[in-house]
Amino acid sequence: MPMQMKMSVEERFRKKVTSIARKNDFCRILMLPLLFAGLFWFHGIAYLKGNVKRFSMLIMTCLLFTVYSSFSFPMFISGDGTSLDMNDVSEEAQDIVLAEEIRIDPEELKRIEDETEVDEDWLLTVHGTDIETKYSAADILESTQPNGAGEGRVADGEEAEFSQDDWKLILINSRHSIPDDYEFPQGDIHTMKGTMHCDARIIDDLLDMLRAAKEQGITLQICSPYRDEAYQEHLFDQKIKKYMSRGMSYMEAYRLGSQVVNVPGASEHQLGLALDIVMDTYTGLDEGFADTEGGKWLAQNSYKYGFILRYPEGKEYITGISYEPWHFRYVGVDAATVITERGITLEEFWEEL
Ligand SMILES: [Zn+2]
Repeated sequence: MPMQMKMSVEERFRKKVTSIARKNDFCRILMLPLLFAGLFWFHGIAYLKGNVKRFSMLIMTCLLFTVYSSFSFPMFISGDGTSLDMNDVSEEAQDIVLAEEIRIDPEELKRIEDETEVDEDWLLTVHGTDIETKYSAADILESTQPNGAGEGRVADGEEAEFSQDDWKLILINSRHSIPDDYEFPQGDIHTMKGTMHCDARIIDDLLDMLRAAKEQGITLQICSPYRDEAYQEHLFDQKIKKYMSRGMSYMEAYRLGSQVVNVPGASEHQLGLALDIVMDTYTGLDEGFADTEGGKWLAQNSYKYGFILRYPEGKEYITGISYEPWHFRYVGVDAATVITERGITLEEFWEEL
């Protein structure tokens, strides 16, 4: 009986529609989709009535999907990872939607490991003003007593033996992070601008180098000698935040961020063995430093004092870091001599050990 009832309703509907269509030519075109919609309605309902279980499963699935997807978007992670600000959420949600439309300028991405765009407040609360201070060589040399000849030391040559366990040769990059238990004797160089920190064992050679440069009329400046992990994390977060604000997803931002800022735990600055060196007259951390007097002098002479240009041009595929003519790493005079003379990177040197 109900089956018959349904058929008759459907039939009545069909008759009505076709009769309207017959009376009026214009209506005929409109009635065609209506007829289809009607047929679909009747048959769809009939199907679902016969499959109540299937129908309720469909509804539940849709419901679950809606609820689940509204919680699974990464937009709930706010920029600094601590607070959940609704304004942030909606902003980032917009960025994520726009991800494919924004073109990223490759020049911008070529930025450097050491680019620091940190808010002053953070620096003051966490580190004092120390980290961003640039220490002038003149200042440093004035406040310390001369110790060596200032000429650099001569390498032992082929007799020198190297080991991967040597503290001077520790390799840190995106594949080798700093061991959790790594410790070094912290050395302080007191200057008028404050105290500069680095590994105490490199200070003598560093002073010799600064003195030798000064004798050539080149006044160097040292910046960000030592960074702790918290600071490195902060730099990294800043970078990711910046990329995400330009429309990248978190994963894209992380991948690019790790090319320009070392992932926390992978920066040599945390070892106290790396120094960013610029000049009094050229303080920018950019490739232009290579063409300055100081940049040229360091590239040619730093090895005599145990320092290597850690991220050379054309070796980016090995180091994983863009060319940084200002970033010098202490490896000791013997290793620095071999590395510089052969024009290799610390990675390549290390592989041979
Ligand atoms: Zn550096």
